[in-house]
Amino acid sequence: MKGAKYTLVWVFWLIAFPTSLWFAYQISPPEIHMREAVIFTLMAAAIACMPLIINGTTLFLSHWITIAAFLSYGLFFEMVLLQFATVIVMFAIKLRRHELYRYFLNSSMLFITSLIAGLGFFAVGGQTGFSTLEELFIPITIYQLLYFLVNQILLYFVSIIMGKKQRFFGKDFVWEAILLLVVFPLGISLFYLNEFMGPISVLLIGVPFISFAFVLRMYNSTEKINDNLQKAVEIGHQLTERLQVKEVMDLFIQKISQTLPVDYAYILDVQEDELVMLRQMENGEQRFDDIVPLKKSEGISGYVWETGKGLIYHEKKDWNHYAQGYIPALAESVMCVPIIRSQKVEGVLFLATTRKKAYEKFQLMIVDILCSYFAVALVNARHYEETKRNSERCALTKLYNYRYFEEYLSSKMSALHSGKCKKISLIMLDIDHFKQINDTYGHQAGNEILAKMATRLSDLIGTRGTLARYGGEEFVILLPDTDQQIALRIAENVRQTIANRPFTVQNELDPSLGFAEVNITVSIGVSTAPEDADDAMSLIRHADRALYIGAKRAGRNRVAEYVKI
Ligand code: GH3
Ligand code: MG
Ligand code: MG
Repeated sequence: MKGAKYTLVWVFWLIAFPTSLWFAYQISPPEIHMREAVIFTLMAAAIACMPLIINGTTLFLSHWITIAAFLSYGLFFEMVLLQFATVIVMFAIKLRRHELYRYFLNSSMLFITSLIAGLGFFAVGGQTGFSTLEELFIPITIYQLLYFLVNQILLYFVSIIMGKKQRFFGKDFVWEAILLLVVFPLGISLFYLNEFMGPISVLLIGVPFISFAFVLRMYNSTEKINDNLQKAVEIGHQLTERLQVKEVMDLFIQKISQTLPVDYAYILDVQEDELVMLRQMENGEQRFDDIVPLKKSEGISGYVWETGKGLIYHEKKDWNHYAQGYIPALAESVMCVPIIRSQKVEGVLFLATTRKKAYEKFQLMIVDILCSYFAVALVNARHYEETKRNSERCALTKLYNYRYFEEYLSSKMSALHSGKCKKISLIMLDIDHFKQINDTYGHQAGNEILAKMATRLSDLIGTRGTLARYGGEEFVILLPDTDQQIALRIAENVRQTIANRPFTVQNELDPSLGFAEVNITVSIGVSTAPEDADDAMSLIRHADRALYIGAKRAGRNRVAEYVKI
């Protein structure tokens, strides 16, 4: 979809560009000497180097020169000059390769705008070359109005087509209108001065204009910094609200890539005396290359780790000799910032892009702030995940506990009801005469057996099901997509594996006896949904019932299935 729109822009330009120029040449060919053309072009270029970006809109300031160029030398020259200035502006705002469509879009719009405004001027009797202000007044006013309106209308439609709904009389409209009040009179003044004094007048008006634009630009850049700072704080809040480590990292990389031009982003984590790759993003995709950890002062990131100070490189030849080799060959600009928490470097953020001179000093400061938020958010998320992990597990056996298990079973039952899963079998097992084992070998030995039992069961079940410690010496195994026959077979296999191999434990009550081989048996109950039950609690109850009535009462060390009475 996006691709189609961009192709359309390009095709549109391919049509607009030659047609407009041809028309312009037919109506109003250039009447100009080389020297004048060069001076006008140089001044337009100088001004185009300093575009003002306000609210994300690029304001073209060269219009006063192009008005005068139009009035003095005709539509064709105006068009060429304006297009030339547009190319320079695109360089000045460091347009990236994937944004190239913006150039074609702007260029096409300006071709159309120039053409329509020019046609309007000639239609009401305007003539290029000298005329008195009285003669000029109506045509030039029409020209200027058309110029402004066509441009605004085109911008409005483009914003709609590109899916960025903007109001027609929005902020951009106001900015452009005010700008017009500056450049329109200046343009006419330049025209008359040029007619009387020749192209030297371009300097006369150009120098103060450039100085003024320069001041505006400085003001503009402080605004930009403030704007970015505010954004950084917002991102910081969003980061610290995330609970999961993955979420924090994803959001961090996403926001950094929205704030800066980034093709390659790496988050490296300080782990003891090494810097380990935690997240590797290249062109928006996560990669999992086998990257050798860096030592302190090794490579760019290792150096930043050592010094604790962020740095910027403008192009490859500035950093190539330090780098450790995993940075993609196309990378040029580099920004590398330490991730600091409590005055300690916890990691390093490495950013790079294929463009030269992409990063500015103030951006380093912004990224620095984002990194401190990131460090805090990461610690919080890690802490949260660990707490959550602990609350789901039993400390002795490291298996899931019954709380987690019941939630998990409920989710599986929902899957059964919605048809995502056909069968669920539940195996519940209880160690026989466990109290006696405690009494004979001691409680600690009992614990040891429980832990070993957990390991043996995990090895046996593997990925076929989910194992949990349900109570004291009771375990449950949930087997999704497993019917009763298979579940019974697995249960029998479990029973035999436990019964056939004794557990070795230290005799705690009488250490002189050393290690003891303890024979253990288990009783097992099996129930299956949907036949035996259609909610989580009944499935558990029925397995329990099979366990006690079918297995324990029938003599222990056996497997029983749930039978409806
Ligand atoms: P049976 O199940 O065969 O009827 O006999 P049993 O002796 O196993 O009886 P029951 O299931 O009622 O008793 C469970 C015993 O397991 C009671 C308790 O001493 C022991 N137990 C429960 N939790 C733990 C634990 O975490 N560690 C140890 N060492 N023992 C435990
Ligand atoms: Mg028991
Ligand atoms: Mg029990």
